[in-house]
Amino acid sequence: MIKTDALIIGAGPTGLFAAHQLKLIGLNCEVVDNLDKIGGQCIELYPDKPIYDIPAISECTGEELTNNLINQLKPFDIKFHLSEKVEEVKKNNENWQVKTNKGTEFSTPNIIIAGGVGSFEPRKFSPKECENFENKSIFYSIKDKSIFKDKMVSIFGGGDSALDWAIELSKDSKVNLIHRRDEFRGAQSTIDKMNDLAKSGKINLLTKYQLKSANGKENLESIDIIHDNKEVKNLKTDYVLGFFGLIMQLGPITNWGLNLNKKHIPVNTENFETNQKGIFAIGDICTYPGKLKLILSGFHEGALAARGCFKYARPDEKLRFEFSTTSKSVHSRLGIKKDD
Ligand SMILES: Cc1cc2nc3c(=O)[nH]c(=O)nc-3n(C[C@H](O)[C@H](O)[C@H](O)COP(=O)(O)OP(=O)(O)OC[C@H]3O[C@@H](n4cnc5c(N)ncnc54)[C@H](O)[C@@H]3O)c2cc1C
Repeated sequence: MIKTDALIIGAGPTGLFAAHQLKLIGLNCEVVDNLDKIGGQCIELYPDKPIYDIPAISECTGEELTNNLINQLKPFDIKFHLSEKVEEVKKNNENWQVKTNKGTEFSTPNIIIAGGVGSFEPRKFSPKECENFENKSIFYSIKDKSIFKDKMVSIFGGGDSALDWAIELSKDSKVNLIHRRDEFRGAQSTIDKMNDLAKSGKINLLTKYQLKSANGKENLESIDIIHDNKEVKNLKTDYVLGFFGLIMQLGPITNWGLNLNKKHIPVNTENFETNQKGIFAIGDICTYPGKLKLILSGFHEGALAARGCFKYARPDEKLRFEFSTTSKSVHSRLGIKKDD
């Protein structure tokens, strides 16, 4: 059981800045995110696109903003639990008991929900039996590409991820690339490269096909794919990869006893606390009159929620307002040795 002053759910820009604000006022925190990387929408949906309305930064990409926020956290020792989804939140005396899908448990007086539009999850194959093979022979992301060496791999999808992996894996594996349309949505140079590999027989390209069924008892043996809802083809395959993009699921957040308003969590604007004492909501997931779904609003909300956490984490202390420019305790937390 991990004890912490505050648990942040979501490592998007809002969750990251809230972590900074908690540490600055002397509270500990840990961060959980369902994604395998830090940055939320900025890193997952628009890493290369420019943002023009971050205060004092004329222009930066989603990735640059994320890197700046991570750099700002460098003085602090913050544990990130990535690829873990918070599923259970229960009250246990004065504390909240929180559990992830990987079994990690936290006990904390404060939870800051910075869950954006919910957890990002891969869009999956529709045939039911695919679940039986998931994470054994059917994958929606790749952690270790060496398992595919010298194997037959069937890749589904028409975007950059499907194309990039088809090209990469064709170096050491036999690859079927299967897409339900004729056209691909990836970068033109990648499409050209894939077509060259298909012409030279390195990639077996099958368009206008979809997965019909996955066959095998313990292990996946073959798949049936269907062309235009008519002709069915059986392909022997060791692995199946699906790259159909991500969907956002509010998911477990709906079961934590919080008031909800059209998939958003109502909060007060004094400290962004929800209807549950010690549970705060900030960023895209929260709602209040006048709410702007902008990163700059999330930063403000995080600063006030962090101060809201203080009274539950340090009930016998009073939080003093201090400027970072002049506060000795802030400087010491930041590891700044002496004041100039
Ligand atoms: C294309 C595009 C362009 C944009 N341009 C701008 C712009 O120019 N300026 C601007 O201000 N805003 C812009 N935005 C909006 C901005 O990205 C969002 O307002 C911001 O990302 C919200 O931050 P957040 O931290 O609240 O949530 P998110 O960035 O959505 O992060 C939430 C994180 O919480 C995680 N999560 C959710 N539920 C769970 C759970 N149960 N367990 C574990 N993890 C969970 C998710 O996996 C996700 O990583 C843009 C958005 C898009 C899509």
